[in-house]
Amino acid sequence: MKPDRLLYPAPAGLYCPAGDFYVDPVRPVQRALITHGHSDHARAGHGAVLATRETLDIMAIRHGPDFCGAAQPAAYGETIDLGGAGVSFHPAGHVLGSAQIAIAVNGTRFCVSGDYKRGADPTCAPYEPVACDVFITEATFGLPVFHHPDPKGEIDKLFTSLKQFPERTHLVGAYSLGKAQRVIRLLRDCGYDKPIYIHGSLARLCDYYVSRGVDLGDLRPATLEKDDPTDLSGAIVVGPPSAFAERWARRFNEPLVAFASGWMMVRQRAKQGGVELPLVISDHCDWPELTETIRELSPAEVWVTHGREEALVRWCELNGFPARPLHLVGYEDEGD
Ligand SMILES: [Zn+2]
Repeated sequence: MKPDRLLYPAPAGLYCPAGDFYVDPVRPVQRALITHGHSDHARAGHGAVLATRETLDIMAIRHGPDFCGAAQPAAYGETIDLGGAGVSFHPAGHVLGSAQIAIAVNGTRFCVSGDYKRGADPTCAPYEPVACDVFITEATFGLPVFHHPDPKGEIDKLFTSLKQFPERTHLVGAYSLGKAQRVIRLLRDCGYDKPIYIHGSLARLCDYYVSRGVDLGDLRPATLEKDDPTDLSGAIVVGPPSAFAERWARRFNEPLVAFASGWMMVRQRAKQGGVELPLVISDHCDWPELTETIRELSPAEVWVTHGREEALVRWCELNGFPARPLHLVGYEDEGD
């Protein structure tokens, strides 16, 4: 049977009829397999959910304990039979608990990579290549212009700014799942051992990362004693980017707004967002990582989803890998 009869895009998401399940469905379904906890992939209201322990915990933190009818944890590498399909979860290196999902059906092996990156990140298990016939890849940064720099160099820019403006409170925008914890961990790995102040909305996820063995150092709530703005002079405050557009951010001393995102490569985006200090730190593959991964796996077919589909499909065709865009809708990653 042709692969596109075994796994295909349906209105609710990528569907496997042999196992009667969807991967990262965008609307409530009977059975969902979830790659990771970002909100566009991990929605509430499914009947049964199969995901890693961490992804299930993260979904419970974000959506409440009743986020689905029945939750089943999958350990990395364990094969689980679902009807006529055998599925297994493998580290994707994207955020804590993130997985690629391998699906073996009718002698064809698919790998749905979800979101993934190849660069080092001590806050989650590193990406593992999964041999497959059909590789389904994201293409968030799927244009040759996207090259992500060394994240430690970006953290150095923050240190330079702190030296240059020692009185100003440095507000670092970072999405609450994954990026915030990675930025904090990067600061620690670069030798920053002072307290880091966090917006209240990050507290539960930071606590959860710590409970899973990711040391984030001294974290404190970003509150000002007696509303004195000089309280956090020269401090680093990490919060979701949305919080920095609010009045909350203007209470700090001459706030300097930074934003950690792969999109900060695009100067226009930084400008529009009023970002004074763009930090190019991404939890997705850049163009060289995407193309190197495809070469490494050398699958019989590549299916490309969410992002710059056409450019990556074109690259695949030019390099001898049959490819097609999936045109799945509803994925706008919150995590970068
Ligand atoms: Zn994601």
